[in-house]
Amino acid sequence: MTIYENYKDQTFLVTDPDARLRDPGDIWKYITYQAGDDMPAGVSVGDFKLVPVGVQVAVSDVMVVPAGSTKRLFAYAKSADGATTYGWTSTTNFQGSFRNVTLGRIEPKSGAGRYAETAAWSRGAYTGQVSLVLIVDRRLELEKLTSEMAGPYFEMVQDALADGVEIVINSGFRTFAEQKYLYENFKKGVAGFFKAAPPGRSKHQNGTALDIPVGGGPGLPTYDWLAANATSHGFIRTVKSEYWHWEHRPAEAKKANMRGVHTTWD
Ligand SMILES: [Zn+2]
Repeated sequence: MTIYENYKDQTFLVTDPDARLRDPGDIWKYITYQAGDDMPAGVSVGDFKLVPVGVQVAVSDVMVVPAGSTKRLFAYAKSADGATTYGWTSTTNFQGSFRNVTLGRIEPKSGAGRYAETAAWSRGAYTGQVSLVLIVDRRLELEKLTSEMAGPYFEMVQDALADGVEIVINSGFRTFAEQKYLYENFKKGVAGFFKAAPPGRSKHQNGTALDIPVGGGPGLPTYDWLAANATSHGFIRTVKSEYWHWEHRPAEAKKANMRGVHTTWD
C-alpha cells in the first residue's frame, strides 16, 4: 500500500441513507445543503441520486471543496468490485472511516524559505524543510504529518485497531502561518482557541507533535491504550497538562518504555 494515498487500498462502507451523489460542476450544491437542511427553492431530495446504504465502495479520487472557514472532502465512489460507478459523494457518508486517510504529499519547493508550508521550526528558529503527508483528521478535515512520522504513526494506528482502539488526530504538523493564527486568536481570547505556543516555538512545527483525542485522559480506552503502547512506537507524552499531546521522540520513548512509564517527566 502507498502510505501517501492509502484510500486507494481501502473500501468504505456507505452508512448514511441520504448519501447523495453530487454534480462536480455544481459546487454550490456541495456546500449549501447537508442532510436535514432545507432545500433551496426549486430543488428536492428526489433530484439527487443516492449511493445505496450498506454498499462497500472503492474511492479513486478525492476533491477538497472549501466550505466557509473549513473544507469538505468528496470522494469519487465505485462499488468495491468495480462493476458500478456511482460518482462524487461526501466522505461524511462513510461512518467516519475516512479518518486517517492520506491524500498525497507536499514536498519542499526549490528555494523554499522559512515561511514556506514545508518549513520546520524549533525553539523560535527555522530548522529546514520537511516532506509532508496530507491526512484526514477526526473531523474529516485535512491535517499534515511529516513523511518521517507517517510510518511510525500508521504502525501505531494498526496496532491499536487490532486491540479495538481507534487512534486519530486533531492536529499534526503546522506551518508558521497556522501557528501564528492559533496563537494570535488565543491571545485575543477568541472563543474556541486554546493555549498555543508563539509561532516558531510549537512542537507542532518541528514535526514531532500530534494531538490525539483521548477523551478525558486516564481511565478511558484510547488514553489507556496509548499509556501502555505508545512508547513501543516511539511516541511519548511531553506536556503534563495535555493528555492529548504526544510527540514522536524514539530515543526518549525507548528509555521511558524500559522504565515502564509513558511520559518525559516520570
Ligand atoms: Zn499539541
